[in-house]
Amino acid sequence: MATLYRKYRPQNFSEVVGQNHIKLTLEQEIKTGKIAQAYLFCGPRAVGKTTLARIFAKAINCAKKKVNSAEPCNKCLSCEEITAGRALDIIEIDAASHTGVDNVRENIIASARVAPSRSKYKVFVIDEVHMLSISAFNALLKVIEEPPAYVIFILCTTEVHKVPTTIISRCQRFDFKRISVSDIVKKLNYIIKAEQIIVAKSILEEIARYAEGHMRDAESLLGQIVAIGGREISREEADLVIPRSDLNEVLNLLDLLIKKDAGSAIRLINKLVDDGVDLKNFLNDFIEILRKIMLGKLSPQLVEKLAMELGENIELKINQLSQNVALEQILFFLEKFIRIRGEIKVNFIQQLPIEL
Ligand SMILES: [Zn+2]
Repeated sequence: MATLYRKYRPQNFSEVVGQNHIKLTLEQEIKTGKIAQAYLFCGPRAVGKTTLARIFAKAINCAKKKVNSAEPCNKCLSCEEITAGRALDIIEIDAASHTGVDNVRENIIASARVAPSRSKYKVFVIDEVHMLSISAFNALLKVIEEPPAYVIFILCTTEVHKVPTTIISRCQRFDFKRISVSDIVKKLNYIIKAEQIIVAKSILEEIARYAEGHMRDAESLLGQIVAIGGREISREEADLVIPRSDLNEVLNLLDLLIKKDAGSAIRLINKLVDDGVDLKNFLNDFIEILRKIMLGKLSPQLVEKLAMELGENIELKINQLSQNVALEQILFFLEKFIRIRGEIKVNFIQQLPIEL
């Protein structure tokens, strides 16, 4: 079960969650046959760069691709070989462990001179390309400047600022984004259905939040939870793997403060302390949610842009709370709690009544 990531790796464009702008452009290029010879996929780790590179390589080499579709058939010999990772014409290189110029000469330049053995295109996927040495980049640049017509380069990097501009300017560049909580939940949902396991949506949302936009992390967390649980995953089992998140308690506290119910607020905080909740983390979450409500009141589009969504359950509660509180009150809380965060020691609890 630890390899959910491999087992459910997307095999065509429609299975990829997130990165819609990139998918659309690539699909359009495939449909119209206007593909570039060098691509640069930049962005955080584990958000689908090499996955999309493989699907792209598969689609342009597919022997049975439908007209007007960009999707690979996943059935022809070429598709099957690429899926299995044994296609001779798809060359994946991890630049992190092959940084030198000799590697570029032997594995890339020499190989690029030879026409593909079976496929239409020879595709070089160079992962972590920013790790190449200067001389390796210079050698690579020469072949990217004048590549044989059958060669396609897909350079992937998490640190585009380390890639020479001479290389960047030769590539069609795509900037990958972290994957949203709702998109991650969608994928996790698909996996648990396929595995016939029951996991509460709130747990899936917690996994997605904790993964912070990295799909592979989310899938690996789910794998760990499923490995210790049975057919139905309980809250307690999930708690063993996901560091406890108390967004619900954060919202409860905020609700009490809005209602000016000091007694219950203090009882809640004492209970959290007894439960071993880290007050500093709790306070950070609290401030984060206040910030979200504040921005939501100022400009809802801004919240969407910042991709601050926290999953459906939490979002619903935040919306309800937000309607019962004025912007001034939120600003007041923000100011107080940011100050408390700076001072937090034992005086947190004593200080709370003063805020009220
Ligand atoms: Zn095919």
